[in-house]
Amino acid sequence: MSAPMSSQGLSAIAETAAPASRPLRDGLLQTDPPRLLGSACRACSTRLFPARDFCPACGSDDVEGGVPLATAGTVYSFTVVRQAPPGRETPYSLAYIDLADGVRVMAQVTGDPDALRIDMPVQLDIRPVGRRDGCDLIGYVFVPSLLPEAA
Ligand SMILES: [Zn+2]
Repeated sequence: MSAPMSSQGLSAIAETAAPASRPLRDGLLQTDPPRLLGSACRACSTRLFPARDFCPACGSDDVEGGVPLATAGTVYSFTVVRQAPPGRETPYSLAYIDLADGVRVMAQVTGDPDALRIDMPVQLDIRPVGRRDGCDLIGYVFVPSLLPEAA
């Protein structure tokens, strides 16, 4: 028993399968609760983001993926980007963030680039960062944590 496959049927499936939003890349993050997903080495405990299937610290391939990472961190280093391709607002800051669990992540930091400082505390924010094929692309930025008032 076989039914003829129509090309019309195939295109209908492709259209209804499109989700309203998706991560920039599969396995990069989760939205509830908002976390970046990294990898953790079972041999030496090194954590990495983005996730890898081997550990560059000890060479082991006994690595666990999809590990939720800390959401708070501090600015290790940063640069201010003043020129970008069309459609991208400038200036913006691009920073290395040291998360509380020891993972170093490169990400954009929101807010005034001139107010950014080394060691400034920042917090993860998962949000739409673009749109493709009628679908929100979910990415991540870091937002400066509120600083206590100076005494
Ligand atoms: Zn390792």
